[in-house]
Amino acid sequence: MSGGMRVWMTIGVLACAAGCNGNAASGGKVSANAPAVVLDGQDKAPPAQQTGGFGGQRAYDDTAKLVSFGPHPSGSDAIKQVQNYIYSELHADGCQISQDNFNAQTPIGTIAMQNIVAEVPGTGKGIILLMTHYDTVRTVPDFVGAEDGGSSTGLMLEIARHLCSEKPQLAIWMAFLDGEEAMVDWNTNDDHTYGSRELVAKMELDGDLKDVKGVILADMIGQKGLTMKRESSSTPWLVDLIWSTAAKLGYGNVFVSQSTGASDDHDPFLAKKVPAVDLIDLDDYIAEGYWHTPQDTMDKISAKNLAIVGHVMLASLGVLETKFSK
Ligand SMILES: [Zn+2]
Repeated sequence: MSGGMRVWMTIGVLACAAGCNGNAASGGKVSANAPAVVLDGQDKAPPAQQTGGFGGQRAYDDTAKLVSFGPHPSGSDAIKQVQNYIYSELHADGCQISQDNFNAQTPIGTIAMQNIVAEVPGTGKGIILLMTHYDTVRTVPDFVGAEDGGSSTGLMLEIARHLCSEKPQLAIWMAFLDGEEAMVDWNTNDDHTYGSRELVAKMELDGDLKDVKGVILADMIGQKGLTMKRESSSTPWLVDLIWSTAAKLGYGNVFVSQSTGASDDHDPFLAKKVPAVDLIDLDDYIAEGYWHTPQDTMDKISAKNLAIVGHVMLASLGVLETKFSK
């Protein structure tokens, strides 16, 4: 039982052989005396060794790269560049990748979309599915989505760096979803979650859905002043597992006990009775006036908070592995 756990606990050590310190993350251009990264002190990522090997600065750099492509709503030219970037990063990490091209029927017509799924095969039966969306909202001009779409995708790319060379007991699938955002209006005609609805249908058809033990969705998890509240539609045991893992790691100040509610890419899985949790801090971002505005930019993102959520996610995978080990 504990063997599975040990696999995950050693991930950080293995990954650090390739360079986990801040100097490596900044490309080695920093002198020995200078700080490794130029961020304000509060939001600087700790060394990756302190967060289970998860590099908060690397996740931050990936988020910045995604933002650099500019607005990338579904069907745009820019989103093709984003897809190429995600694919090439996953490929470089040695991930097994599948791309699902599909046509979504939307209120503005048929739009070509693409889900990208990196799969780490398991030695046993069962799948843990991690998800993010990488499209940006179409209805807001000049919207680049540093937090809404960017941060969780940057986080997932860094997670993939760790997992794609591992041999876990449970398979880990990391889904990069298109079409989460509404083309016109979220509240009308199912105009949302195109990618997750495609994925759940495809997994059901392929016979994989029955093997999914849990879905962990990340969406808006990198903002400064992050407070992760328990999303009320999410599966209670899975919420408890993640929140207790966070508390054990000393992040009770970030993963707080209050509740919130969100409609998101986990909904199609909950509808199929698959356990799922949405990690999201929508409330604070709305309150600050940045949600779905052109102000959703990199200056709102904290490498430290990316590191915390990444650490919790990696550690939670270890707990899930133990829970479902036979
Ligand atoms: Zn959004």
